Amino acid sequence: RDVTAEKAMPTPQPRSDVTISHPDRLIFPEAKISKGQLADYYAAMGGAMLPWIAGRPISLVRCPQGRAKKCFFQKHDSGSFGDHVKHVPIREKDGSKEDYLYVEDTDGLIACVQMGAIEFHGWGSLVRDVERPDRMVFDLDPDEGLDFGDVKKAARDIRRALDDLGLTSFAMLSGGKGVHVVVPLTPEAEWPQVKDFADRFARALAASEPDRFTATMSKAKRKGRIFIDWLRNQRGATAVLPYVVRARELAPVAAPVSWDELADMDGAAHFTVKDVAALLDRASSRALRGWGVARQLLPAV
Ligand code: ATP
Ligand code: MN
Ligand code: MN
Repeated sequence: RDVTAEKAMPTPQPRSDVTISHPDRLIFPEAKISKGQLADYYAAMGGAMLPWIAGRPISLVRCPQGRAKKCFFQKHDSGSFGDHVKHVPIREKDGSKEDYLYVEDTDGLIACVQMGAIEFHGWGSLVRDVERPDRMVFDLDPDEGLDFGDVKKAARDIRRALDDLGLTSFAMLSGGKGVHVVVPLTPEAEWPQVKDFADRFARALAASEPDRFTATMSKAKRKGRIFIDWLRNQRGATAVLPYVVRARELAPVAAPVSWDELADMDGAAHFTVKDVAALLDRASSRALRGWGVARQLLPAV
């Protein structure tokens, strides 16, 4: 460790040796949250996030000038993230290989924030075995005007339907409009099998209650319904990861909740960056013990 460099730093950054430039720049102008504060949030939450994000190919939502200005979704490395952000070559559909990004530690998260990242989205598989998903996600996307109560009921129904198939699932507030139902998997089945299961599961549910659910992306078919977005479960697709900050006005956070807690939630954007202390407490709370963890395989159908 270079002690002279540490002394030379005017404002030592606790918990990370990544320097944040323009720490006072407002990334969330409405909520008055600066780049430095966003970095502090991720520094504080790193320990809670790493079990979900470490070693997983990620895409970033970057908004270098703040969330109200131009943002872009970045899948591949642009070569400027520094040593804390790792690369993994992954085969594309056309057979070529592209470098994807992943992080292994909190410094990696902070290095992304330094590059203007707000949101972190993860593949459903890990770098060490990219072809075998370790999680499935059913992303519930309600049509405009639907009540959050409808979303909560849908999530519970999906939980029960999964349970009937022997699969344990967990709920996460997306930080936006919906709830993600997360199904941990022991990596064994490959992408085509997982995608096929997710597709058939969503379609069966939509067929059984066509007034409430649709498994088709089209906005027209969604009218007054909840789209069970199973398309997160195909190779290369991503879903927002636990404790990620969303690039929306009030800096809401994607937040794991227990099934009991979900019943009391008023919306998918219940928690924000400003709740960092509560989020940190919750992450090690009894209610969330074991959240997102289950050893299970897709049922043979
Ligand atoms: P909400 O609850 O508001 O729907 P969400 O995170 O579920 O929030 P969706 O629009 O349903 O948002 O998107 C689901 C996932 O699709 C996102 O979490 C993200 O990982 C991925 N995604 C979103 N935008 C893009 C994009 N421009 N390109 C590729 N993938 C995206
Ligand atoms: Mn969604
Ligand atoms: Mn979606």
